[in-house]
Amino acid sequence: MARDLPNVVRDDAERLAPEQLEQIQFRRLKALLAHVSSTNGFYSRIWRERGVDVNSIESLEDFSNKVPTVEKSDFISDQEAEPPFGRRLRHLLDEQQQLMLFTTSGTSGQGQELHAQTLRELQGSAEVYAYMLRWAGLKSGDKALLTLPLTMLGGGRLEYHGAHDYGLTVLPAGNYDADRKLKLIERFRPKALIGTTSYFWHLAAVCDGEVRDMGVEALFCGGEGASLSWYNRLEEEWSARVYDRYGSTQARNDHMFTCEEGVGTTERAGMLHNIDTHVLLEVIDPATGRHVKDGERGEVVITSLYHLDTPVIRCRMKDLATYRPGAYCRCGRHFRGIEIGSISRLDNMYRIKGINVWPQSIEQILLSSDMVDEYEVVLSTKADGADEAVVRVMPKVPLVGKQSENLASWLADEIKNRIALRFRIDVVAPGELERSQYKAKRWTDNRIHIADLSRRGATAS
Ligand SMILES: [Zn+2]
Repeated sequence: MARDLPNVVRDDAERLAPEQLEQIQFRRLKALLAHVSSTNGFYSRIWRERGVDVNSIESLEDFSNKVPTVEKSDFISDQEAEPPFGRRLRHLLDEQQQLMLFTTSGTSGQGQELHAQTLRELQGSAEVYAYMLRWAGLKSGDKALLTLPLTMLGGGRLEYHGAHDYGLTVLPAGNYDADRKLKLIERFRPKALIGTTSYFWHLAAVCDGEVRDMGVEALFCGGEGASLSWYNRLEEEWSARVYDRYGSTQARNDHMFTCEEGVGTTERAGMLHNIDTHVLLEVIDPATGRHVKDGERGEVVITSLYHLDTPVIRCRMKDLATYRPGAYCRCGRHFRGIEIGSISRLDNMYRIKGINVWPQSIEQILLSSDMVDEYEVVLSTKADGADEAVVRVMPKVPLVGKQSENLASWLADEIKNRIALRFRIDVVAPGELERSQYKAKRWTDNRIHIADLSRRGATAS
């Protein structure tokens, strides 16, 4: 099967002209569509139902116009119809293929997607990560410490493999607490840290400003929206360069990266270059489906050009971002992408301590207690830099004695069981909270690393 793929991945691909890149993308796309239409029950059914013959697609534009998008709900209903793998993976089970399995966050089956990857796809993923690491100046044998834990999630394991396959000496420290991570950083002096933006701030706060002497040169941020002023603060705090990245479990990869030009400044943001040879990026107007222009905001839609066994084709990511062609960046590469610090969610999802949290899932738990009348959720950053989520709960009648303590601990446990995060519950007196008509208004995000972004997101959507 791999033989059908044109040998298009070259070290100098990042220097190709836009037209040449598009030719490569289209060749890979044709091979992908031909393969998937004859092997994958999930996609071939969607296309058949919409009357689309993917083998007659004649251009990238044709592809965007004719091929339907897929999203989370499609993956979930597929898994529910054929648990636990869904039709998407049925053909691989028949072939007894070795699979890497990833779930999206959340502990319950509801809303938790399953994605897989084969070993040859892992190879493609390594090719993509090589860009991130090379652009940041890392070389084979350099040390990198991974602050993400290794779990069922994609984030953590994917970065681990990417860094390992590139030739780095990887310290998988993510399952330890912050103190132990800091001791490992002091002891081994890794050149790079790979993790999430807010966690690097947490480490700096725990260490009381001494992180600048630890010899770390590159911080690979990402995994959550963050503002440019925040990245700039992080660079000062660590005396290191920040490199941003964008990816998803659906892509099973980070595939957009900061080049050596860096994240930019609040006056002129840098960009995340998509690795166009491997992933087809579209940024579309969610209302019309049309690709947006340079500098306009739209929804990120991705197609992986190298996932033939476990394809992801025109997946809507529910992330809004500002589109930029490669020419926006001073580095001269033509890889297209999005502006740094421009990402916000289309569906009000919050990322708290690296976990995806939808307001409706919290609301379901709170309102399952017949004592709860109204509530509000406030997200903030604690003195040690970690995220804090506080739910202020207003009961219907005044609570006496241990009643309010019991309600608080019951709600905290229910939330913990459901989404694997502990929220602090403050029970307030009846009348203290105003009744809200809008679900989204019950949430306030005051976390410092995204304060600017919330404002931007609010004006865009
Ligand atoms: Zn660049």
